[in-house]
Amino acid sequence: MAETTPNSWDARAAASSFYGFTDLPTIEERGTVVLTHGTGPYVVDTEGRQYLDSNSGLWNMVAGFDHPGLTAAAKAQYDRFPGYHAFFGRMSDQTVMLSEKLIEVSPFETGRVFYTNSGSEANDTLVKMLWFLWASEGQPQRRKILTRKNAYHGVTAVSASMTGKPYNSVFGLPLEGFIHLTCPHYWREGQEGESEAQFTQRMAEELEEVIAREGAETIAGFFAEPVMGAGGVIPPSDCYFQAIQPILQRHGIPLISDEVITGFGRTGSVWGCDSYGFKPDAIISSKCLTAGFFPMGAVILGEALSDRMQRAARAIEEFPHGFTASGHPVGCAVALKAIETILEGEGGNPPLIDSVRALIPRFEAGLARLSEHPHIGEWRGRGLMGALEAVADKETKTPFAGHLSVSERIANACTDQGLICRPLGQAIVLCPPFILTEAQMDEMFAKLEAALDGVFAQAA
Ligand SMILES: *Cc1c(COP(=O)(O)O)cnc(C)c1O
Repeated sequence: MAETTPNSWDARAAASSFYGFTDLPTIEERGTVVLTHGTGPYVVDTEGRQYLDSNSGLWNMVAGFDHPGLTAAAKAQYDRFPGYHAFFGRMSDQTVMLSEKLIEVSPFETGRVFYTNSGSEANDTLVKMLWFLWASEGQPQRRKILTRKNAYHGVTAVSASMTGKPYNSVFGLPLEGFIHLTCPHYWREGQEGESEAQFTQRMAEELEEVIAREGAETIAGFFAEPVMGAGGVIPPSDCYFQAIQPILQRHGIPLISDEVITGFGRTGSVWGCDSYGFKPDAIISSKCLTAGFFPMGAVILGEALSDRMQRAARAIEEFPHGFTASGHPVGCAVALKAIETILEGEGGNPPLIDSVRALIPRFEAGLARLSEHPHIGEWRGRGLMGALEAVADKETKTPFAGHLSVSERIANACTDQGLICRPLGQAIVLCPPFILTEAQMDEMFAKLEAALDGVFAQAA
């Protein structure tokens, strides 16, 4: 247990902060890790203890915690023009340059970009865009939003309604008209004797049934993460997007790719939709957009939605929506530098996406090796995002009883050894920064393995 003197950082944090997404009994027992700085993929706490952050902060600090090019870009922009909005026909030059860049690196030939401060707000914004669009086109009843169970799309009232997690019931969410389909996780959701191809077929049939039941004329859009992130790193079953997209197209339902985690290289391609071979109607971006150096989100509208939105806005002369800091010049300057760093290479270094591709085989081999453990049911992932699912019984895939909090205990054991990783349900999630070296990756797996051994020895 952490020493708690009245004026310790831990005590000050606990007395002054209302925690979100934090297990309070664990905090009471273990205290709060208060961090002061970081170097490369490591963060350092107020006691001087260093932790390898195998989660890139919250999926986003892909260039590490002290990238000189990114801090220089921010400082230079603060000196030049430290803040402006994007209302009333004014916006910063950085905002224009970033929009051009985002279209250039997107799967779209043409398009338009709208900025927010977060991924939640970007999803929320796109739902409002779809409601606005359909109403303008004479179909105001097209308001329902389809997502999947286990999806994570954010925490605002609308994006939390899109999120397919049971915890949102404490808020009386989802709002009416938000419909969650089955999570396309073959290992967990597949039925006895069902092949993966049959499972994908069943997911497509379910979509057809839901559209028939609700009426296509009442559905505004379908949102999906290419790989579910906060749901526990769940790649879709084989050919999932190839099976569902034609159905959506047939019913005129836009497919939105929520690329908040998968955007800018995480899966080894620029976008998750590239990795899975589909072209969405719009993309939601945040997290890696600025490599975590500035809060920012973006809605990237593809060719057709962009044109339709433009017509709808012109019909009433404006789209009445925006955030004070939409298209913030410092955020845009940082994003331009982050995209350069990841996709083109910056400061004489090769592009970080090359490092991602080079690291993937070692990452997959490490996960596969740990999945041989008698209490790991499966490893899964894509690119540099992966998960190990703990099970009490490997044959029957039976989870540990909830009160054992196995993944929480594994993560705590890792923290004690100087490794930060994230418990999600009964899985342990890894999504290291793109700057990780091979030696640091080996350190990550060695520490995780020691933690697994320790916790399973007690839990089994
Ligand atoms: C994190 C996340 C969001 C929400 O982003 P915030 O910036 O936390 O609001 C939305 N979608 C996905 C896929 C995410 O991972």
